[in-house]
Amino acid sequence: MTFHVMIIPTLNCPSNCKYCWGSENKNEMMDLDIIDEICNWLEDFRDDKVHFTFHGGEPLLAGYGFYEEALEKLSKLDNFEGFSLQSNIWLLNDDLIELFKKYNVIVSTSIDGPKEINDFQRGEGYFDKTMKKFQRAKEMGLNINFVLTITDYSKDYSDELYEFFKTEQMNLKIHAALPSLRGDNADPWALDQEEHGKLLIEWLDKYLYDLDKFSVMDLDHICKSTLRRRGTLCTFADCIGTTLAVGFDGSIYPCYRFVGMPDYILGNVKTNPSFDDLKESESWTKLQEFREYVNENCKTCKYVKYCEGGCPYNAIVAYKTTKAVDPQCTAYKMIFGEVSKRMNKEFMKNAMGGFQAGRTKKENEAFSIMDLAMKP
Ligand code: SF4
Ligand code: SF4
Repeated sequence: MTFHVMIIPTLNCPSNCKYCWGSENKNEMMDLDIIDEICNWLEDFRDDKVHFTFHGGEPLLAGYGFYEEALEKLSKLDNFEGFSLQSNIWLLNDDLIELFKKYNVIVSTSIDGPKEINDFQRGEGYFDKTMKKFQRAKEMGLNINFVLTITDYSKDYSDELYEFFKTEQMNLKIHAALPSLRGDNADPWALDQEEHGKLLIEWLDKYLYDLDKFSVMDLDHICKSTLRRRGTLCTFADCIGTTLAVGFDGSIYPCYRFVGMPDYILGNVKTNPSFDDLKESESWTKLQEFREYVNENCKTCKYVKYCEGGCPYNAIVAYKTTKAVDPQCTAYKMIFGEVSKRMNKEFMKNAMGGFQAGRTKKENEAFSIMDLAMKP
């Protein structure tokens, strides 16, 4: 199993998205010493392969020098697996593009659809700044994936959003807008769970005609998880302990979403804690309350093996308690139910003749759910 370590050099961010739940205008910045501490800490922490994701705030505020040294040091760890980075990419320049290509960094950025919708949600000028850097990265051979945040406002433009990503051949992950623990600015933008489920099903209908054009990664994962009966995305797996995040000062949190929340500090890389040390923290006890609640609350749910109660952070922010499940539970039941129904139908239909995933399909014919579940 891959162990996931998120590195959050800063929570500072130059964007001013209306529904932002996480960033703060603080100027704290991770020092390269913390990267050395992370390397020391991970040497004996666990044997699994480690994937690093740089996140923020805006992680590129750390600058070229930070990444030049950090990528070199972290990639030398014995169990190093790879790098990802989530950024608005406004500070991406040719030097960083070359550096990220050298280390095969998987870069993702955020765009909320066509310019008018994106800039309404994320601020005037955002779309042009991100797309300009995206085009430059593409010219230089650096692939970029996208995160589309769907809000209570943009859900009404579901068709326009789908067509935009399909036409531009931009691969994306969907993110349902969340409330925030840091204030109430994000609350009116939060996406209702039934609307989310409806949108996923509508998109699945269309996507089965377009599997060869672009990737809606959530739908890919939902189908794969249903087929394998285990979550292939953090939201649908038990992420507690398999993902950790390190803040600017070396504090260790359960995930990037908790960074800056003192109640969720598990330890600090400077003291070289073992996994058992992290389990002694109050934060760990709170996370176990979530797990115990899921075990009880979701035990009769058909999808529990590959939903696992969803995202603990989502549950905690939405209900202000650890004794809750992900507020998108209804959406997950809707899409897992739809995928299971279609998969079972295909199983029945193909029982005699074997699966036809990967077959040559006729023009204007939809791919099958099995094609989607087996998409590379
Ligand atoms: S807290 Fe949520 S976003 Fe973070 S790793 Fe877990 S499931 Fe993923
Ligand atoms: S779909 Fe809802 S009830 Fe089922 S496991 Fe997920 S959160 Fe629990």
